Amino acid sequence: MTLTQTGTRGFRAYTAKHLDDLLKRAGFDSDTRLRIRAVASVLPFRTNAYVVDELIDWSDIPDDPIYRLVFPQEDMLPEADVSRIAGLLRAEASSREIQAAANAVRARLNPHPAGQMELNIPRAGSEPMPGMQHKYPETVLFFPKQGQTCHAYCTYCFRWAQFVGEPDLKMASDDVEGLVRYLREHPQVTSLLFTGGDPMIMSGPVLRRYVEPLLELEQLESIRIGTKSLAYWPGRFVTDPDAAETLRLFSAVVESGKNLAFMAHFSHPREMDSQVVQTAVRAIRDTGAVIRTQAPLIRSINDHPDTWVEMWRVQHALGMVPYYMFVERDTGPQDYFAVPLARAYEIFRDAYARVSGLCRTVRGPSMSSTPGKVCVDGVTEVAGRRVFVLHLIQARDPSLVGRPFFAHYDPDAVWISDLKPAFADRFPFDPAIVGQGDLVAG
Ligand SMILES: *Cc1c(COP(=O)(O)O)cnc(C)c1O
Ligand code: SF4
Repeated sequence: MTLTQTGTRGFRAYTAKHLDDLLKRAGFDSDTRLRIRAVASVLPFRTNAYVVDELIDWSDIPDDPIYRLVFPQEDMLPEADVSRIAGLLRAEASSREIQAAANAVRARLNPHPAGQMELNIPRAGSEPMPGMQHKYPETVLFFPKQGQTCHAYCTYCFRWAQFVGEPDLKMASDDVEGLVRYLREHPQVTSLLFTGGDPMIMSGPVLRRYVEPLLELEQLESIRIGTKSLAYWPGRFVTDPDAAETLRLFSAVVESGKNLAFMAHFSHPREMDSQVVQTAVRAIRDTGAVIRTQAPLIRSINDHPDTWVEMWRVQHALGMVPYYMFVERDTGPQDYFAVPLARAYEIFRDAYARVSGLCRTVRGPSMSSTPGKVCVDGVTEVAGRRVFVLHLIQARDPSLVGRPFFAHYDPDAVWISDLKPAFADRFPFDPAIVGQGDLVAG
């Protein structure tokens, strides 16, 4: 199966060539449409008929949260960049010229944050294994080659580099044998996480080729699949021709004695309203899989405690397990979507205080940064100083997990790199002597 076939299964795909018509439907004038298309040449656009017809409220443009997640916005990139590319589009410049301008902008958007190209790529002997990441001892990430696109491109997604077709920016693999060999050589790995893009873009038979060989590995306790499909392509588990086969594969994982952890990305409660989503949740749960939920906190989309209270409550009622609230990463249009850490903590705490203990499985707000997942536990005063209290939920160096540390309070900080250590001259994960040691995981 090839990627182009994805549009023929399930919901009809909308791509860049449909963007102008969709924007007309939203009522934008021609100049604005050109500027939005300029942004889309940098941050790729793709969605489907379910998102467009069932999820977006077209009477509430541009404020509708699903619209804002999926559609590029004209002020998402620096004004000069948007104007330059809009000018090229207006002058009907060659696609090569437009691509070159778009690539120059992309290079400035930190396409691979958190050391993902330098620090996390495992090796077989001296050979790097692209399409894999081994950052935390017990978990390996695998980027299946056919899963490097998505049912809709949320413009906030840190995976955008996977979608732009630039080989230098992309990491992906179809070497399942190499993966199995690597896992056998690293028996400390107990969890394998398929990610992307979105692995659930793969058809049932393709997914099976990746998953089945892992069932014989006794060391694996869980196989995870990170996906937006439950929100944006629920028919994948209900009405698509390969729905039954996919669910049988999930059952086979559970029957092999492993946890099939379905990591569902939900960004807004609206994404759980439809009957087909609820039917899909039941079908997946009936296989014995456990659905955990996660999403970043995004300005103008879900930056209110009520939104999270509703999300966690509905998820819990449907039998899903809230898992992570993430902080918007330092990539792509971060400036556009970032919520200050101090505000993120308030939103998390306000929402957390209003749900039952059974929903308080959720952790956050969490930054997936170079040293690991840094959680903002609170803002408090220690020895007369206002500080952030932080801890690592996951760490490249496991001895640092769960140890509190402090940073000076800064109401504008949006990422760990904005913070300065308090009561210490460095953070626990900062090297004592710069340049010392081999940081490569795995
Ligand atoms: C989040 C993440 C994981 C999984 O971490 P858990 O705490 O086990 O959910 C694994 N690898 C990378 C690179 C991650 O960012
Ligand atoms: S992979 Fe998920 S978060 Fe990223 S663009 Fe697709 S739907 Fe959005």
